[in-house]
Amino acid sequence: MSSTKSRELFGEPELLRIREAIAAAEKRTSGELRVFIEDDCKDDVMDRAAFVFEELDMHETELRNGVLIYVAVSHRKLAIIGDAGIHQKVGDRFWESIRSNMINRFKSGAFMQGVEEGIHAIGEPLSTYFPHDHDGDRDELSNDVVFGK
Ligand code: CA
Ligand code: CA
Repeated sequence: MSSTKSRELFGEPELLRIREAIAAAEKRTSGELRVFIEDDCKDDVMDRAAFVFEELDMHETELRNGVLIYVAVSHRKLAIIGDAGIHQKVGDRFWESIRSNMINRFKSGAFMQGVEEGIHAIGEPLSTYFPHDHDGDRDELSNDVVFGK
């Protein structure tokens, strides 16, 4: 499994923009957003994304409010997984609406726009249900994009 294609699409300027979008969203919430990108996903995308979620220790936030955007570039697959804390507030339909918007962007080649809109949209309910704690908030999960091998 190589991430050549993903790295072509998401170079340093794009990675910086994604980090900044995540940091901006996390200024308003204690929740944690993360983007994972790889080329291929031959498995069921939800199974793969759930595996990645665990691998990245995303279930270890204090309030169970981590959200993963999983992208497999070559296979045009996308999944969004929210941990139990945020999932019980928004439910499947919320993730599905963000996912379908992002897929539409991807289909027209607007990858960055899709990712940024996704991050922004996920940040909204996070900020409502898990407002930022100005005194005690920590960056529990790095804002860096993670690439598959
Ligand atoms: Ca945080
Ligand atoms: Ca973070």
